[in-house]
Amino acid sequence: MRKQDFSPTLLDFGPVQFYIARHFGFCYGVENAIEISYKALEENAGKNVYLLSQMIHNQEVNADLQGRGIKFIMDTDGTQFIPWEKIGKDDIVIIPAFGTTLEIENLLLDKGVEVQRYNTTCPFVEKVWKRAEKLGQETYTIIIHGKPKHEETRATFSHSKASGHSVVVRDMDDAQRLANYLTGNKTKAEFYEEFRGNYSAGFDPEKHLQRVGVVNQTTMLATETQSIADFFRQAMITKYGESSLKDHFADTRDTLCYATNDNQDATYELLKLDADFAVVVGGYNSSNTSHIVDLCEQNFKTFFINSDAEIKSSDEIHHFDYHRKELRTTYAFLPEKKSIKIILTSGASCPDTLVDRVMQKFLNFFPHAKKIEEVLKDF
Ligand code: SF4
Repeated sequence: MRKQDFSPTLLDFGPVQFYIARHFGFCYGVENAIEISYKALEENAGKNVYLLSQMIHNQEVNADLQGRGIKFIMDTDGTQFIPWEKIGKDDIVIIPAFGTTLEIENLLLDKGVEVQRYNTTCPFVEKVWKRAEKLGQETYTIIIHGKPKHEETRATFSHSKASGHSVVVRDMDDAQRLANYLTGNKTKAEFYEEFRGNYSAGFDPEKHLQRVGVVNQTTMLATETQSIADFFRQAMITKYGESSLKDHFADTRDTLCYATNDNQDATYELLKLDADFAVVVGGYNSSNTSHIVDLCEQNFKTFFINSDAEIKSSDEIHHFDYHRKELRTTYAFLPEKKSIKIILTSGASCPDTLVDRVMQKFLNFFPHAKKIEEVLKDF
């Protein structure tokens, strides 16, 4: 029942009202990964404990883990901080929730590192790998809708290309560019240039785009993945005719995880409201959070912040412009009204306490607001 109800919760403090998304914040995969990381620290005092990359896209959690002695081997984009030569068989290496590539896993296994001991790869990411494997076994080429540099998409691409030819598309523009090779509008040489780094070895666009299936990074925008799948489906109908569609297109559902789906569905409900602005809390490199921001921006002025510290005063807020990838400052962001309506939600890698702190920070600006206990007594 709970899952079917995506209506927001209204917390009415009088001069300020918060509409809280029905689903937001930590997902199963992130909670599990954090728990295992702390366990790894506890069980291995005195040893080097490494994380392949950021545990999750949340700076506070990552900073806390680093403060307790965990070291990151590389950053989100794969830039190496600690050379592989420094890592030996007695070291502990934690695989983050995004999973890792087969190449890195094999490299660590060759060194004798017990990679499965603290492997926190989320089961919903593994489900995508299985779907890709099945498509590969059925000789479909796997089109991965994901952010090419994101850890999860790099891991999925690595697993996928072990089963079948694979290519990554970032968005619908990329999908349309790829379709030029399906229709023969562009040459092979142009493909290798345009999709450099994002196709499997031996990929021949003249041969390997005749039969395709789509999977996606678990945190993409559901509607965009659906549009991309529909686009390739239609391209195959146009080229080969409806009657032979099954030979050219695998009609599968998206591979988003439950948390992404629930958080996005809950955000669609928020869009039906009338509010003064929206606040989305989460890491600035978090994929699922960025899509919640995208949705909120359709209807509201939206502030994407990574913590309550970004709310500098009742007159100044620092927030991230996801499209331009830059921090911005907005002054006089609280409208002068008798009662202000604020939409509040967060991404899957944001601890709930952060959302709580953001709400508390706003409440400080309204001295006549009702007490929290009074507002919460009916819940
Ligand atoms: S966002 Fe989804 S896939 Fe990623 S860790 Fe959370 S539950 Fe797993």
